[in-house]
Amino acid sequence: TAPPIAVTDPATGQVVRKAAAHTPPEVERRVRAAHDAARVLRGTDFATRASWMRESAALLEADAADVARAIVTEMGKPIRQARDEVAKSVRTMRFYAGHAAAFLADTPLEAPERVGARRALTRYQPLGVVLAVMPWNYPIWQVIRFAAPALMAGNAGLLKHAPNVPDSALYLDSLFARGGFPAGAFGALLAGSDVVEGIIADPRIAAVTLTGSEGAGRAVGAAAGRAIKKAVLELGGSDPFVVMPSADVGKAAATALAARMNNNGQSCIAGKRFIVHTDVYDEFAGLFAEKIAALTVGDPFDEATDIGPIATARGRDELAAQVDDAVAHGARVLATAATPADTAGWYYPPTLLEGVGPECRLFREEAFGPVAVLYRARDEQEAVALANGTPYGLSSSVWTSDPEQERRMIDALEAGAVFVNGMSVSYPELPFGGIRNSGYGRELGPAGIREFCNMKTVWIA
Ligand code: NDP
Repeated sequence: TAPPIAVTDPATGQVVRKAAAHTPPEVERRVRAAHDAARVLRGTDFATRASWMRESAALLEADAADVARAIVTEMGKPIRQARDEVAKSVRTMRFYAGHAAAFLADTPLEAPERVGARRALTRYQPLGVVLAVMPWNYPIWQVIRFAAPALMAGNAGLLKHAPNVPDSALYLDSLFARGGFPAGAFGALLAGSDVVEGIIADPRIAAVTLTGSEGAGRAVGAAAGRAIKKAVLELGGSDPFVVMPSADVGKAAATALAARMNNNGQSCIAGKRFIVHTDVYDEFAGLFAEKIAALTVGDPFDEATDIGPIATARGRDELAAQVDDAVAHGARVLATAATPADTAGWYYPPTLLEGVGPECRLFREEAFGPVAVLYRARDEQEAVALANGTPYGLSSSVWTSDPEQERRMIDALEAGAVFVNGMSVSYPELPFGGIRNSGYGRELGPAGIREFCNMKTVWIA
């Protein structure tokens, strides 16, 4: 059975608002509207879509303060970070408005003249309606990073958002129509994930994109396989953050804090496993522990708050179980920060652990919250082995000032991205996505807008 659709404030545990799920006829009406809109969109040009996208971006920018507050109420991230999320979404809409035509321009190819071809090229055309199954951790950004390129390519989008962020879903449902896109070009389905497989199988749907857990990825990938439809899966990660002896250890520790604790620790590309060369281990561990202990945990609406509550009670319980399991297997807690007393909110203390061995769940599982794990590596080889030693492969970060080591590590880290002397962040300009259990396909950059296009080969005699 589908979970109820409701806003529950994670800082209090109280239900703020319930939203009625769409009835099956309403879901059908919205699928039809998206399909009709896709036909209209296909006949529009880049300049027209760019003007609608810029207008939609201006509306989101004007609404930013209200949208940021809604995000905080729905999922508990600190208000400053909610404002950053909205600003980044606006930037990404403008980025694709400005670059879509160039990213999807005809690409000339060498024509096989021996068979009489005068000219050959590839042309990118929209696929139609793309279903987006999205999570709650960045309730606006995760959707925009799909919707901006999809709409600019001339596709229509249908959003099945996570059940705890209906206000974000409803805001996005009207945003693009307000900006000028044809009615139905982008719509939300307030429904449980039980509708997803049927919608993927529907002939009016061309493709599906999902950001979320491995389990959701397996279900959606299997449904897309059965229906022979294109899928992009952006799943979890347990990204390594590797610190080598030649690194600026102070800068690495300060960045480690941001990399792990951003978004209350609930980010797929957060640095989660801190793999530190033994020569600088104690120095790094000391600095990192100090910074974690000094974090301010509390009301996410307070401008001074660093860490708010975990978004769901289930997520908080899962994180607690992972840490308890590690401690039961001999892991040591190096630092924690105080959480607010006397609250029914879903707070979990920022925690730094060491001594997490292969027998612990945290050794291989993703920690979706403010929990950092330190690993000591004797040398580069061991650091790489630890870094690559999970089923995931989303992003990675390595800190070194040795150019030869930098070159070797860029090649050796098994992940969809590597950031050298910096933390993993998604940018509109750069492709984003994983390998292995972190999923497949790419979002953002030039690659992101091509995922949901038909790359049509054209041969002209
Ligand atoms: P889920 O993956 O369960 O939810 C994400 C989206 O997928 C929701 O819209 C959800 O809808 C949908 N979904 C879930 N199961 C299915 C299914 N079988 N078929 C179709 N759609 C489905 O995330 P949770 O909130 O449960 O978070 C659990 C874990 O997921 C986290 O601890 C973290 O590891 C990972 N996660 C990763 C994210 C990322 O950014 N990569 C984001 C969020 C979570 P519904 O809830 O209605 O089932």
